[in-house]
Amino acid sequence: MKKVKVGLNSNLLDTVKKSTKSWLLLTKEHSTLQYGGNDGHADELGHSYAYDSTVANHGQLDVGDCIVLWNGSLLLGISRVDRISTSFGSKSRNRCPRCGSTKIRLRKSILPVFRCQHQSCGFEFDEPIRENLEVTRYVAQYSESWGYFRGESTSRTIRSLAKSPQSIQSIRELNHLKLIDFLERHESSE
Ligand SMILES: [Zn+2]
Repeated sequence: MKKVKVGLNSNLLDTVKKSTKSWLLLTKEHSTLQYGGNDGHADELGHSYAYDSTVANHGQLDVGDCIVLWNGSLLLGISRVDRISTSFGSKSRNRCPRCGSTKIRLRKSILPVFRCQHQSCGFEFDEPIRENLEVTRYVAQYSESWGYFRGESTSRTIRSLAKSPQSIQSIRELNHLKLIDFLERHESSE
């Protein structure tokens, strides 16, 4: 039995235990999300996480909370929020011309280029309704306690740590005790 540390920072588990709340954050490294105006906060793994007021739970994430970064399939690392800065900006968003839904998909090889995914709509079109949205942008800094996760993880395991495992939100609340239990198992087994 070899002791496997959960991250480079051996105090990582203590860091998690100091918080009372934890969040799973989906990194947007490969996102196609575009901001209007002069952008851009991008995520920088190990340092900062950017999101805006269109994201669910944007107002819930707080300084001192534990955060778990993942890319949709792998757990990347863990930290605590050091500070959160806010600014105002705008963001463009496309809507279906028939039903007004924002659930539209851009197709790379078929025309018309857009297809509405909203329930039974299914409308296909080239010109979406474009709107400019005023948003609050947030950047959470978290480098002070950051540690890479070195253990094994599957997306199913990671999802199961969330309070709502079925959630598809970028910021979702984790079951804090389940997370501690998960990390303890990774620190002492293998
Ligand atoms: Zn539609």
